[in-house]
Amino acid sequence: MVLFWFRRDLRLHDNAGFYHALKSGKPVLLLFIFDSDILCQLNDKEDARVTFIHETVSELHRQLEQYGSTLLVKYGKPLEVLKQLVQEYGPEAIYTNRDYEPYARERDKQVLELAEAHGMAYHSFKDQVIFERSEILSQSGTPYKVYTPYKNAWKKSFEQSMIKPYATEKYLGKLYQHPQTTVPILAAIGFSKSSIRTPAARLAPAILESYHDTRNLPALDATSRLSPHLRFGTISIRQAVALALAHNDTWLQELIWREYFMQLLFHFPSSAEESFAPKFRNINWRNNEDEFARWCEGKTGFPLVDAGMRELNQTGFMHNRVRMVVASFLIKDLLIDWRWGEAYFAEKLLDYELASNVGNWQWAAGTGADANPYFRIFNPDSQIKKFDKQYEYIKRWIPAYGTATYPAPIVEHSFARDRALAVYKAAIAEA
Ligand code: FAD
Repeated sequence: MVLFWFRRDLRLHDNAGFYHALKSGKPVLLLFIFDSDILCQLNDKEDARVTFIHETVSELHRQLEQYGSTLLVKYGKPLEVLKQLVQEYGPEAIYTNRDYEPYARERDKQVLELAEAHGMAYHSFKDQVIFERSEILSQSGTPYKVYTPYKNAWKKSFEQSMIKPYATEKYLGKLYQHPQTTVPILAAIGFSKSSIRTPAARLAPAILESYHDTRNLPALDATSRLSPHLRFGTISIRQAVALALAHNDTWLQELIWREYFMQLLFHFPSSAEESFAPKFRNINWRNNEDEFARWCEGKTGFPLVDAGMRELNQTGFMHNRVRMVVASFLIKDLLIDWRWGEAYFAEKLLDYELASNVGNWQWAAGTGADANPYFRIFNPDSQIKKFDKQYEYIKRWIPAYGTATYPAPIVEHSFARDRALAVYKAAIAEA
């Protein structure tokens, strides 16, 4: 028998590693591990992502039992869980899909060593992207740092065969026939059910048809909302790209942003911790904790910023346009280190993904590889005029907007703008 280990690819259909495991000709036993090292870092014991993963894994478990097999659902440090399973089942090989985050790469290196030490094969596959690692490089053989040439090279290298679905359904009879097991309840892994729900994936062509014109309007439900599903693999990237090719090039470009940031983090893992551009590594942040708390709570007195933060706190989602506005406000108007904002988003976003989060925060800070120039500072009021003219989005999230209970602005924007420019210029001068 062979083992297939699910990580951020929580689906049976169109799953590269699972398909190859099934094609090995050996019975396949499936595994998911709630990684105790990751879970213990989560402060909120009602974390909505954990609830979503738990529900998804429970559903996979139900589906697999229909085939006379099971999903082994374990809790612990992956290496220790795997060591124990190797003793118990003696698999000939471990199959899995690749994950490119620094923690996952280190973990998988250790799993490979474990496999080698036990004479087992270790097979990993590309599944969460169309192009991974160094598949898209510039003509000089270096990683692209700027999005547009990366996107052009991505499109040039793309072939239709790359989105052919992996037909796992043909081979589900090859699963290891395993007696029933149970999925540990949430409490057994130290969590309870979140009141925040992850909306089911909807592959809605109608939304994509008008996406180009409406995607920047936060009051409308006009973006796909597929990000948590791409994050946890409850839909496949091949399915998403096929949809984009059929309906909307602008949307395809968003999916390419996702891969652009993934390859950046892969090649420059330290960008998760420090500004990509060295000249911005010594910005003299103000880092005022009270102001940070007001930003987190949506009480800055800037309605678009506050509406966004309240949407995030209540739903785990925030519209992309508003993410840009709140990020710019935190960094430029309040002069708070982008890493504080990145960490807050990491706690709250249902779609939190290290590469996209860091990449976008560094874009907003002007410190990234291909960033918004540092001197372009969003005016939070002009953003309302452009994107929420009728205050529809704002009033949805701030019912008290316009009444005496709504706070006064935390800072005067044009003063804050000048202050930010001076601090950024000083950092450049010192570099
Ligand atoms: P759609 O507009 O329907 O786009 C389709 C898909 O393309 C998304 O699901 C996502 O996978 C990808 N995508 C779209 N825009 C971007 C982008 N700018 N960068 C990377 N991928 C993109 N996205 C995350 O998935 N995880 C994050 O942690 C994250 N953090 C962000 C932080 C900031 C400060 C900003 C400005 C953006 C961040 N984004 C992040 C990008 C973007 O806001 C979300 O992907 C998008 O809002 C998700 O909604 P959607 O699925 O309806 O997107």
